[in-house]
Amino acid sequence: MIIQTATLGYPRIGKNREVKKALEAFWSSKSDAETLLQTVREVEFAHWQTQLQAGIDRIGIGDTTLYDHVLDWSVRLGLIPDRFRHLTGLDQYFAMARGRDGIPALEMTKWFDTNYHYLVPEIDPVLQPADFSDFLETVHRAQTLLGQRAIPIVLGPLTLLRLSRLELNVEQAVSYLLDRYLVLLGELKNLGVVEVQIHEPALVLGDADNFKGAYQLIYDSLGRVGLPIHLVTYFDDLGSAYPWVMELPVAGISLDFTRGRNLDLLQQHGFPADKQLGVGIVDARNVWRVRPESVLSTLETIQSITPNIRLHPSSSLQFVPYDAQREAKLPEPLRNVLSFAEQKLEEVVILAQTLAGGDPSDKLAMVQTQWKAFEQFSPVNPAVQERLRNLTVQALERAMPYEQRKKLQPTLPPLPTTTIGSFPQTTEVRQLRVKLKRGEITQAEYEAAIDAEIAKCIQIQEEAGLDVLVHGEFERTDMVEFFGQQLSGFAFTEQGWVQSYGSRCVRPPIIYGDVARAAPMTIREFKVAQSLTDKVVKGMLTGPVTMINWSFTRTDIPRSEQAMQIAFALRDEVADLEAAGAKMVQIDEPALREGLPLKPERWNEYLSWAVDAFRLAAGVAKPETQIHTHMCYSEFGDIIQHIERLDADVLSIENSRSNNETLFEITDAGYQHQVGNGVYDVHSPAIPSTEQMVQQLKTGIANLPIEQIWVNPDCGLKTRRWEEVIPSLKNMVEAAKIMREEI
Ligand code: GLN
Ligand code: ZN
Repeated sequence: MIIQTATLGYPRIGKNREVKKALEAFWSSKSDAETLLQTVREVEFAHWQTQLQAGIDRIGIGDTTLYDHVLDWSVRLGLIPDRFRHLTGLDQYFAMARGRDGIPALEMTKWFDTNYHYLVPEIDPVLQPADFSDFLETVHRAQTLLGQRAIPIVLGPLTLLRLSRLELNVEQAVSYLLDRYLVLLGELKNLGVVEVQIHEPALVLGDADNFKGAYQLIYDSLGRVGLPIHLVTYFDDLGSAYPWVMELPVAGISLDFTRGRNLDLLQQHGFPADKQLGVGIVDARNVWRVRPESVLSTLETIQSITPNIRLHPSSSLQFVPYDAQREAKLPEPLRNVLSFAEQKLEEVVILAQTLAGGDPSDKLAMVQTQWKAFEQFSPVNPAVQERLRNLTVQALERAMPYEQRKKLQPTLPPLPTTTIGSFPQTTEVRQLRVKLKRGEITQAEYEAAIDAEIAKCIQIQEEAGLDVLVHGEFERTDMVEFFGQQLSGFAFTEQGWVQSYGSRCVRPPIIYGDVARAAPMTIREFKVAQSLTDKVVKGMLTGPVTMINWSFTRTDIPRSEQAMQIAFALRDEVADLEAAGAKMVQIDEPALREGLPLKPERWNEYLSWAVDAFRLAAGVAKPETQIHTHMCYSEFGDIIQHIERLDADVLSIENSRSNNETLFEITDAGYQHQVGNGVYDVHSPAIPSTEQMVQQLKTGIANLPIEQIWVNPDCGLKTRRWEEVIPSLKNMVEAAKIMREEI
């Protein structure tokens, strides 16, 4: 017996971020289009070779992209909004991705529950001609190397539709798209491909039943082209859509067995005998090696229900870095249990061989030994365990209810002004860290230079007339990394880049063990800042939920427990900040909302522990200490009662960028605590006028009692330049003063 293996997509940024570098060189006119395209082709070719050498039978191809694979499909399908139609080629493509000359880009948003961002397609009634030539050319090239192993990956029509902004009715959109997909499948068939993967992750969103008719219509038609279709789903289970999805006329269906309850559904409903089941068994969204014993038993269960299976990673491997073995600086026992894309290919192949009755037992035994070595290397931390065991509900409560403690907290003028925390991270500031790392400056010299930045920042805030100051976050590389580096149980990679969007890559930390704080993390800089001013300086922390959501987490204990461990560490930091004289502490949770599970029925479970973790961190604060929190791009309407349960004294939100929508949601819900509804967009270099911010504030005052309102920018200022920040803040303070006189 032979068990086939497959892949559903691969990282695309290049093992050494070649595509990122080529893109940035092209954008800054340091290289030309041909050089860029050549780089992308070389990177793509290397990926095909890697997968071929690993022994993958059905290699997913065509997902390599210059910016975003969803944008690629918008362009190929002719979904070019009017505002870009005067442009052509790469000009048009990058204008859609990044905007240009005042033409706004397509909207960017998160891809399902991952940290990857895609560009939202816009479908209007006047479609442009479809053009699949680049895709077909790629398929042809792949066939030259891979032959019949080359399996084109196509973004499914209904997932595309589900994620689009529609300016026509759904039936019309379905019929437009269907015509174009029929052409595409016909062309692929002519090229002689043996199968096409059509990815329909929207099937797991929980509302797929509403689109049942459209799925049936589309797949009935596409099935008639005569090219075998493998329908691919991932990120969660099919839920109530399972039975009818099984009936769609396709040759195979892939399910994710690393998330959700597809195994239960399979056991309950079975699997059609005429189809092949694609088993997403190796977790493509986390970095741990499989534990052979548990995975093999799942596979045996699956095989006993339906013998015709193939194995593959649970989704595209774009969510993990390339190669764990390159991380030479990580301790060996940790490195050996990490699995990035290349290791995952190997795992898929070994599992398939084992299941087929082969005997790669040495390899599996070795993995087991490596896990044992890891457990010895990273034992449980008894002190952390002890604290978790003794956790009581009282620890989650502030000592006094909001209405009472509010009276004890600092008194400020109406419409108090502040910022979200960070100030410009200039090249000079980043250079300081490079120099420190290279040993070109001493720790004392580094700190002195940071302190000089803090002093400058305090002076600028004083001159702008802000009421509540911050130290500016100059010592922080990144809001999660900075804390992770000071906590035990966190590891950092050198080459562990994953694409966030376009050319932007991040290196998520890896949480591998119990988390504990060795020493205070933010006190020194806070004290420096507070010593320079009589105004209140806010202490600045990153919240537990954001740290969890922006890291690779452990799989041996629940995320909720990992969040509580981090919350305990932050709780100590809050207490230390108070002891150092902080009257306000901000605990940022920008990623709280983005951690919501895909299926709404699981939201409460997540929000319950997420909010508890925040409360555990903040609950230690004395009544007279004001706790702030901050969230970016948040929509709150549907989760407002959980936001209330955070029990933060002040909540600052990105608001002007979403045209006050967030503010209206808060108002509608009757939110009682204080709100800093951002008065200007920090993503734009434009300097907001006083008048414009007065208007924002008027909207605020018309909607919320004035005692509830704070005045601040939408988000941190670290990506802006001082020349933008200084006048912007002056105008903002001026706007607040004008409003104070009017009331
Ligand atoms: N305090 C952080 C900053 O100002 C918050 C960042 C964020 O919201 N993502 O940079
Ligand atoms: Zn923000």
